[in-house]
Amino acid sequence: MHAELLMIGSELISGAKLDTNGQWLCDRLAAQGIPVRFSTLLGDTLDDNVAAFALAISRSDLVVTSGGLGPTQDDLTRDALAKAAGVGLVQDDRALAMIEALFARRDREMPDRNRIQALIPEGSSILPNPIGTAPGIWMKTGIAHVACLPGVPRELKAMFDEELVPRLRAVGLGGRVIVNRVINLFGLGESEVEAQAPDLTARGRVPEVGITASDATISFRIRAEGVDEADALAAMQPTIDAIYERFGDLIVGEGTDDVAEAVIALLHDRNKTIAVAESCTGGLIAHRLTRIPGVGPVFPGGIVSYANEAKTDLLDVPADLIDSVGAVSAEVAEAMAVGVRRRFGTDVGLSVTGVAGPTGGSPDKPIGLVHLGLSLDDHTTHRRLSLGSEQPRPVIQSRSAKHALNFARLGLLGKTP
Ligand code: AMP
Ligand code: MG
Repeated sequence: MHAELLMIGSELISGAKLDTNGQWLCDRLAAQGIPVRFSTLLGDTLDDNVAAFALAISRSDLVVTSGGLGPTQDDLTRDALAKAAGVGLVQDDRALAMIEALFARRDREMPDRNRIQALIPEGSSILPNPIGTAPGIWMKTGIAHVACLPGVPRELKAMFDEELVPRLRAVGLGGRVIVNRVINLFGLGESEVEAQAPDLTARGRVPEVGITASDATISFRIRAEGVDEADALAAMQPTIDAIYERFGDLIVGEGTDDVAEAVIALLHDRNKTIAVAESCTGGLIAHRLTRIPGVGPVFPGGIVSYANEAKTDLLDVPADLIDSVGAVSAEVAEAMAVGVRRRFGTDVGLSVTGVAGPTGGSPDKPIGLVHLGLSLDDHTTHRRLSLGSEQPRPVIQSRSAKHALNFARLGLLGKTP
């Protein structure tokens, strides 16, 4: 059982307008337990629409369309559906009365051409429009139930919820409960994660598990369905357990991807505080920490020490250390972490120094080389990252900040060297 979408409007294929209705419908139908298998964008061309309808009603259980229901020349949806179904158009008196009433309410005379909005394919019925003129169409033809909705997003949504969902239930489509859960990992590449979980991401697996990557965070997206929420949750629990067992400390959290959130939660939990010293990230780590409400008690502040003198003056990094090993080095990263920890009197000091590019790289210190420092309890440690000299500056900065926060997270878990 699956649905198919026909998104109709020349503005959609000319590049003038984004098909947001399609995304919304995919999301809503999925939530009803009805997967969308095809979605086609079509211009306002009768032949193309007839062909698309003919194919859709021959292969899909539910066909939902958007657009082309207005009163103008280019509104061809009702004609195309009638042609594909091999029937004529008939006037629906109820629809005509509704359109007339709407114009009367607005104190306007109904233009003659609006009459065509009351024409529907023989054998279909109307989907009343709760907020606009164009009624929708509901029809069984081919193997499909067809629902034609208006293109105006507000009208489409209202009609979907109020008129279509009850009809879907009545014909036995949908009504299942879908539960989605997202588990975020950081520190492995997408292909490495996939290689460690071929069984989980296998096609056709129930429940379904997908992998997506965003800014180096890898997300497992688990989707399960059931007759009710408890049923769907029970169906996904063994999969959740398997992911936690297999990926352990690489898991930073669920829902919103945020390593910063995980760090703050750990700090609260352990009753510890953190300060950050940032060179190449220019305050990005502090920004990510302070984006999260409730950070105050665990984060007194940070220092952006971009110039060597700032590292020396504000963090007590010895000038001759910088002279001998360079600002981008394990030694300076550690000295920055110790310095900022002492300066703020925190339990944890975290630092980052690196070459963000696009200039300033050298053979032994290429663009993308980043050193992280972490001082906590009675020890100080560092980590070296090679983020890739081809990466643009904002990506190197963003990755550096995320890796640094993750370094602190692992440190708080006692998992750093
Ligand atoms: P129509 O029902 O074809 O007259 O479309 C009315 C208006 O709805 C169009 O002018 C677009 O602005 C908007 N629209 C149509 N289709 C879509 C779509 N797939 N996604 C978002 N907006 C749309
Ligand atoms: Mg249109």
